[in-house]
Amino acid sequence: MTRPDAALPLGATIGILGGGQLGRMSAMAAARLGYRCHIFAPEADSPAMQVSAAATVAAYEDVEALHRFAAAVDVVTYEFENVPATTLAALEGRVPCRPGPRALAICQDRVAEKRFLAEAGVPVAPWRPVASLAELEGAIAAIGLPAVLKTTRLGYDGRGQAVLRRPEDAAPAFERLSPKPLVLEAFVPFAAEISGIAARGLDGAVASYDAVENRHRHHILDLSFAPARLPAGAARAARENVAKVAVALELVGLVALEMFLLPDGSLLGNEIAPRPHNSGHWTMDACPCSQFEQHIRAVAGLPLGPVTRHSDAVMRNLVGPEGLAAWPRLVGRADVVAHWYGKLEAKPGRKLGHANRLLPLGALAGLDDASACDGL
Ligand code: AMP
Repeated sequence: MTRPDAALPLGATIGILGGGQLGRMSAMAAARLGYRCHIFAPEADSPAMQVSAAATVAAYEDVEALHRFAAAVDVVTYEFENVPATTLAALEGRVPCRPGPRALAICQDRVAEKRFLAEAGVPVAPWRPVASLAELEGAIAAIGLPAVLKTTRLGYDGRGQAVLRRPEDAAPAFERLSPKPLVLEAFVPFAAEISGIAARGLDGAVASYDAVENRHRHHILDLSFAPARLPAGAARAARENVAKVAVALELVGLVALEMFLLPDGSLLGNEIAPRPHNSGHWTMDACPCSQFEQHIRAVAGLPLGPVTRHSDAVMRNLVGPEGLAAWPRLVGRADVVAHWYGKLEAKPGRKLGHANRLLPLGALAGLDDASACDGL
């Protein structure tokens, strides 16, 4: 087992739970730094396995396979936060797990996340836990309408939530989402959706990238504008919020924080993900050290890399059949760096790749959305 405070030596093996594109791009960054990756995921030939030295195809509940995996790697990290607690329990004590179980537990539960954010000094929208229709009615009386009812666990890309606009929306929404534990949040009339990414190293150093502005289509991230076109004060506050989260989580790894920008320029925290994030893909081509390299540096115990931005960027997700159709055009553009994840089927709603359009530093501030995307 690696000494807890030592950097992994060249040639060491990083275990990654999860086989998707975030694991794939982390593994590619790890290879450049001289590490091997071993992917543990239930699906064979997953995007991350295609670029890694070793793979275990097994269920996350397969304790024997997890023990063999722990023995074969020097550190374990994840590319998704909904790692079952039993999976972590099977690995703990056998191999360092970064980030640790506390960070994962907080990010798996919206109620724990909101309490944590408020304690860390990041304000959140008013909220109430909801376990019954009577509690939902009480929460509506306290918070008002419109409001958003969400499952506390396993919600993503808008799944597991309902917007309540009128009192009569409450019962059908409760019916649809219960019996899962729920939370009611005030509807935030945001001016923009912002996110930021910070890394915290084994030595406690923290580095926070410029915050970006995100646009969604059908609840899936469509575009990120880097940097977000924000007043300087809000841009600084966004970076600081993410850094605060990384410190309060006592994280070793990477964390993304999704925030709402209010019309008055203030920010509210929404969601935390203790891993590389789709809204950080722009860093691959607009920063000397991408979010994936930063993730690997943190979990390998290397010093963090610079988070400076050498270009402005617009990131477009390539999703489903339309994403596949756009690929030949985008891969041929001189101002675009195109990334494909190696998925064989272009199912609707599936993230297949992304394209980063690079612009000169500072250029984005003067452009409207159409010119910033320019056919992306
Ligand atoms: P989430 O799963 O919490 O990231 O929510 C998915 C999307 O729903 C967000 O990106 C927002 O566009 C929208 N949304 C979530 N919560 C709220 C809220 N409290 N007020 C307004 N919009 C929200």
